[in-house]
Amino acid sequence: MRDVGFAESALDSSGICHVAIACPDCGSLLSFPPLPRRSTAICLRCRNQIESTSGRSAHAALACTVATLALLPAVDTLPLLRAEMLGQRSESSLITGVAQLWHHGWIVLAALSVVFVIVLPAVRMALLALVLVALRLGLRPPWLGPAFRWAVWLDRWAMLDVFLLAVAVGYYYLTTLEHLDVTIESGGRLLLGAGLLTILSRATLDARAIWRAIGGETGAVPDDRAIGCRTCGLVQATVREGEPCPRCGARLRARKRDAVVITGALVSAALILLFPANLSPMNSSNLLGIYLEYTNFGYVVQLCHLGLWPLGVVTFWTSILSPALMMACLGWCVLAVWRRSRRRLVLRTRLLRTVAEAARWSETGPLTIVFFVPLIDFGHLGAEAAGGGATAFIVMSLLTMAAAATFDPRLMWDATT
Ligand SMILES: [Zn+2]
Ligand SMILES: [Zn+2]
Repeated sequence: MRDVGFAESALDSSGICHVAIACPDCGSLLSFPPLPRRSTAICLRCRNQIESTSGRSAHAALACTVATLALLPAVDTLPLLRAEMLGQRSESSLITGVAQLWHHGWIVLAALSVVFVIVLPAVRMALLALVLVALRLGLRPPWLGPAFRWAVWLDRWAMLDVFLLAVAVGYYYLTTLEHLDVTIESGGRLLLGAGLLTILSRATLDARAIWRAIGGETGAVPDDRAIGCRTCGLVQATVREGEPCPRCGARLRARKRDAVVITGALVSAALILLFPANLSPMNSSNLLGIYLEYTNFGYVVQLCHLGLWPLGVVTFWTSILSPALMMACLGWCVLAVWRRSRRRLVLRTRLLRTVAEAARWSETGPLTIVFFVPLIDFGHLGAEAAGGGATAFIVMSLLTMAAAATFDPRLMWDATT
């Protein structure tokens, strides 16, 4: 693998045309030629990966996207798991889980599950399929850029792969319980396929290559104080600030307005919710006359007590340690901008990228409840119910994701100028 740093000029000595784009993380204007296979372009200032041709293929991404889209209706409606206890049977599907949560009054949890696990994955995959099919046919309709912008933006908010992890963690836990037989049904197998295809479509898609195919990049840098679109990287003259980006339609901003205040407020709200999210019951069960409530802390302790260390570590990481660390990272970045600190800029920028990507996996815990509730429903033998901690947790995770999305890392790099 080769690393290609940015060049100073738009043309090299052999006359190869370089394109000019802006690094979304540090704001540097970058200029580089079309990459050869198995190469990676990296911003030499902030070490952000700008483009990679290694293991990427628009054809593979299109195939994965269309296959996922075809599987989604079945994944949403078919039974995922079946549980049997003392002759009583119950099944769980995504739709019945959401309906049952709604029926029991857990409206926020049910609505958010519908949006993030059913609606947004379908919308994102449909937009991505439209864009990739249009490019494959050589079409360049005016909606192509905005459609791909939405597909990129929805990438982190579409959580089918997170739901797959939630089902896997929950299934592993249920197989350890006495008197309970759990089997994976057709919907569960399709969910595994759709979740893996979603991960594969993300891995094989290089957004920069798609933006270049949509068009609009030139080798000329308008002037030294040009601004770059944070969504697609297109470089524009500073006079165009406030106008829509001609390629993706996002509003062109030299820096996001009030990003520090908004991110600081979102992190503060998430921090307040960290305590009820982990100390209030996530769910409760009333099985065979035994009533139990599970907080995240209590769940981790119980798993370790049962000797289920891998599950205990995953739960501790996704539910407790990871959200706290992500808030600490975001708080550090906000304070650094406020103090105009130049220390550890590359590390802070990398941490921000990691937080923006990892925050969605914190939703694993609350999403487990979506299929637990209908699955553990054995009439007079007992049932499972959601707890107040689940709603607090899902809102806390969404606030952390929103905080990472609203921050503008270029503000940190302004301290060096
Ligand atoms: Zn950079
Ligand atoms: Zn743009």
